Amino acid sequence: MKIAVLSRNPKLYSTRRLIEAGEQRGHEMHVIDTMHCYMDVTSSRPSVRYKGKALPKFDAVIPRIGASVTFYGTSVVRQFEMMGTYSINESVAISRSRDKLRSLQLLSRKGIGMPRTGFANHPDRIDDLIKNVGGAPVVIKLLEGTQGIGVVLAETAKAAESIIEAFMGLKASILVQEYIEEAGGADIRCLVVGGKVIAAMKRQGAPGEFRSNLHRGGSASLVRLSPAERKTAVDAAKTMGMNMAGVDILRSKNGPMVMEVNSSPGLEGIEKATEKDVAGMIIDFIAKTATPNKTKTKGKG
Ligand code: ADP
Ligand code: MG
Repeated sequence: MKIAVLSRNPKLYSTRRLIEAGEQRGHEMHVIDTMHCYMDVTSSRPSVRYKGKALPKFDAVIPRIGASVTFYGTSVVRQFEMMGTYSINESVAISRSRDKLRSLQLLSRKGIGMPRTGFANHPDRIDDLIKNVGGAPVVIKLLEGTQGIGVVLAETAKAAESIIEAFMGLKASILVQEYIEEAGGADIRCLVVGGKVIAAMKRQGAPGEFRSNLHRGGSASLVRLSPAERKTAVDAAKTMGMNMAGVDILRSKNGPMVMEVNSSPGLEGIEKATEKDVAGMIIDFIAKTATPNKTKTKGKG
C-alpha cells in the first residue's frame, strides 16, 4: 500500500518508526508536511497539492497533527477524506479530542469514569464552582493545554480562587477538576488501536510533581491493566470515534478515571517502556482495515 504519515518533521521518533515499520512490511511510505499541503477545495475532483504537484492517491494517511496546528492540520486530513483516502483517525475525531471540555462531555454521556469537572466562562461564584467539584485541593487546567503545561494543582480554596481569577483575567478557558490524590502523581497511558489496548505504560511524575507527563520529567514503566482499565480505555477511544488513541487514566479509589484521549499519541515512551513494535501494530491495523485504492471514509464535516 501507499501510506503517508502527515507530520511536520520526518526526524521525530514516531514519524521515523512508522516509516520504518511500513517499509519493513513492504509498503510505500511517504512523509508529508501537513502545513505545506494546499488544495483547491472547490474542485469536483478533490486533490491535495504539495511542492508544486498534486499528491498521488494514497491508500491511507496517518495524521500526526500537533496541538498548535489543529485547525489547518484537520482541514488537510478532511481533504484527504474527500478524496476517499482512509485516515486512521478521521478529522472530526481529531478536532473533537483537542477540546478537553467537549471530550469530557462526550465521555460523561457514555458513563465513562472521570474526575468531577467544572467549567465556567465567568462565574460570579468561583467559590461555588470549586465546592461543586468537591472543594480544594483542585486541579485547574487550561482548556487547550498540552504536555502538562497549563495544569495547576491548587491546595486550598483561596489558592484556587486566585488562580482561577488570574486565568479568567487572561481570558483563558479553564476546567476545574477534582484532584485524584491517590493516583500518587502517576497515570496510565493506554494505546488503543482498532478497539484493543495494544500497549500500556505507567507514567510517574518526578518527585514532588503531581503531573506525570514525560515532557515534565516523568518516567515510564510497564504496567498490568485490570479488566476495568482495559474496558475504560477501549470505551473511551470508541466514544471519541478513534481507531488509534492514547487514553490517559488515573487510578482512583472509585475505579479508572479518564483524563484525556489523545489522537496523535507519541510512540517513543511506550515503545521503550514495553519493548513492543507499536508502530508495526499500527501499520498492520491499517493494512487490514484500509482497502487499497477503493477505500472510502465517511468524510463527515
Ligand atoms: P495535558 O494535556 O497537559 O497532558 P492532563 O490533563 O493530561 O494535561 O494533565 C497532566 C498531568 O497532570 C496528568 O498526566 C496527571 O498526571 C496530572 N493530573 C491531571 N489531572 C489530574 C487530576 N484531576 N488528579 C490528579 N492528577 C491529575
Ligand atoms: Mg496528558
